[in-house]
Amino acid sequence: MTIHLRFFRRVAGLLAGGLLLAGTVSAQSTNSGQRDVLREITDVVGLKPRFQLRATSEVQNAAAVVYGGQRYLLYNPQFVAAVNRAGRTDWAGISILAHEMGHHLNGHTLRAGGSNPTDELEADEFSGFVLRKMGASLAQAQAGMAVVSDEQASPTHPGRQTRLTAIGQGWQRASQQITASTRTAAPSAEPALMASQPAPVRQVAARTVAPTSVVGKITFRAKPEVDFYVTSRLSVVRLDRDGQSAEVVGRLARSESLSYPYVLIDGQQRRLYISRMGEIYDPNGRQVAVLTDPV
Ligand SMILES: [Zn+2]
Repeated sequence: MTIHLRFFRRVAGLLAGGLLLAGTVSAQSTNSGQRDVLREITDVVGLKPRFQLRATSEVQNAAAVVYGGQRYLLYNPQFVAAVNRAGRTDWAGISILAHEMGHHLNGHTLRAGGSNPTDELEADEFSGFVLRKMGASLAQAQAGMAVVSDEQASPTHPGRQTRLTAIGQGWQRASQQITASTRTAAPSAEPALMASQPAPVRQVAARTVAPTSVVGKITFRAKPEVDFYVTSRLSVVRLDRDGQSAEVVGRLARSESLSYPYVLIDGQQRRLYISRMGEIYDPNGRQVAVLTDPV
């Protein structure tokens, strides 16, 4: 059994139109008392739920379609119930809906053509990300795909293990974001100051950042014109324009994360997370700077 049949995407408009006009689609997006899964999913990715969820027996399983400029998630409630039973968790059905929503949010439904392995893996990765944010374990996030995917790859769909791995990658990515944001007490809700003045920790003479002691350079996206350097003692130093004096504005510390081996801590104890590739993220997972070799 495959979810998201190529057929549905190819004739998406026709299908959804026919279903809607024929009135075979349930008007209620969810039964009363049921979780508003759609809203929960869009909440965790910070989007408004601009989707219509439609339960219908006209689709065999589930599909993401666009009709009349409106995005629909169609699902067969019997299929979702069967997936939940087979996966032994309601997370299974939720992951199927998250997968279909991943097709919409990644723009797959805006393109012509049917399912392809790349799109499927993006949607799978998205579902893993979403389910971790919603509180599912990795096993729960993978339960749905474990029961509905084919073991062997096809021209349109990757094989089961590849898909479970993609879900795992999304799940891990969300997990790292959550860990990063909870390591700090709580992200500050303070708006940005008009004139940002990083608190100087102490003043150091320029000679302490002689070229031999500089091991890296940090460039912030918001301040690309200002050079920050990392010294061999892991201090983060901002060099004056004339190069005569330097100011220590933070430091790097080792972390226990394999993916984010260093944390940048500024004078106000705010933390940024540095990936192995040198990408620097804020606690919300936004990349704000890059660490490169000093040039
Ligand atoms: Zn799909």
